[in-house]
Amino acid sequence: MTAIATLGSHCALQVLKGAKDEGFKTILICEKKREKLYRRFPFIDELIIVDYFKEVLDEKCQSILQQNNAVLIPHGTLIAQMSSEEIESIKTPIFGNKWILRWESDRGMKEKLMIEAKLPIPAPVLNPKDIKKLVIVKRQGAAGGKGYFMAASEEDYNTKRNQLISDGIISKDESLYIQEYAAGVLAYLQFFYSPLKGELEFFGVDQRHESDIEGLARIPSEQQLKSDKVPSFNVIGNSPLVLRESLLEEVYNMGENFVEAAKKMVAPGMNGPFCIEGVYDENAKFTSFEFSARIVAGSNIYMDGSPYYTLLFNEPMSMGKRIAREIKLAVESNQLDKITT
Ligand code: ATP
Repeated sequence: MTAIATLGSHCALQVLKGAKDEGFKTILICEKKREKLYRRFPFIDELIIVDYFKEVLDEKCQSILQQNNAVLIPHGTLIAQMSSEEIESIKTPIFGNKWILRWESDRGMKEKLMIEAKLPIPAPVLNPKDIKKLVIVKRQGAAGGKGYFMAASEEDYNTKRNQLISDGIISKDESLYIQEYAAGVLAYLQFFYSPLKGELEFFGVDQRHESDIEGLARIPSEQQLKSDKVPSFNVIGNSPLVLRESLLEEVYNMGENFVEAAKKMVAPGMNGPFCIEGVYDENAKFTSFEFSARIVAGSNIYMDGSPYYTLLFNEPMSMGKRIAREIKLAVESNQLDKITT
């Protein structure tokens, strides 16, 4: 029997509920401090209690997972808390492509894959001296928007960077990534690519609510101008969005181009869930500033099925359940190696 395991954070509830509904044993790698929370949910069969998530790399944890024939579902917390080398060293089979996670974490590699996928990306700014328009300054990896800031000139950049350093939010030698700020309606496009079927599915769209950039928009400009705090983009939650139907054709094209590019650049390609993140401008032109090569927390809003999956499945289908369904199909047809790395 196969089990499905994940780290206790991000979208663990959705993933394990979906796994249980598909008949799998479910395992949660859970930090002690969150044990009480996760014990509330009866669909979690076993908790591996750890002090830190990094213990998933230890022999002890790996052997429990191995005894259970577990498949590990990677999500944002795995990426945020472990280096690419550490993730790649995990012996438990990882759902999807663990090698592509490095391409998500490294800003340079990310840009390369997005260009290969013909995604319209905001222009990168290599040197703070070249800041001529409004830019957003980001940290490496999936920092979830924490410590990000906007700047309109080199001077502005230096002031804000120094302030964040003295506030202890970023470190002095941290290399920052600068790109042009793209204004418009935020849209995080969630997909699933099934290597078993060779098919791309469009799952849904979410928007992120980010503090304190959102809070800033709710106060009058007079107070905004007086504030000397550097607003961050820390994600607090997500809400659903449906797109104008006329935009769907392009959405599928972007998803397909991304799958194609990933196949070419990083074998075995973009298997499983992924997300293309960006904004639509006043001409409904999409600019993509980011991708996630695994399930995103924004899929939590559709635990009972998304509008677009309602069109494809005659049953409530969450992203967590879709992942479990793919694993079930692979187990039944002896193709687990096709969907894990
Ligand atoms: P995650 O890995 O959690 O997706 P991240 O740390 O890689 O996040 P981004 O998604 O690149 O960060 O950026 C965080 C937020 O900053 C976005 O959700 C968006 O609101 C804003 N943002 C990022 N890049 C741009 C841009 N070029 N133009 C406008 N807004 C942007």
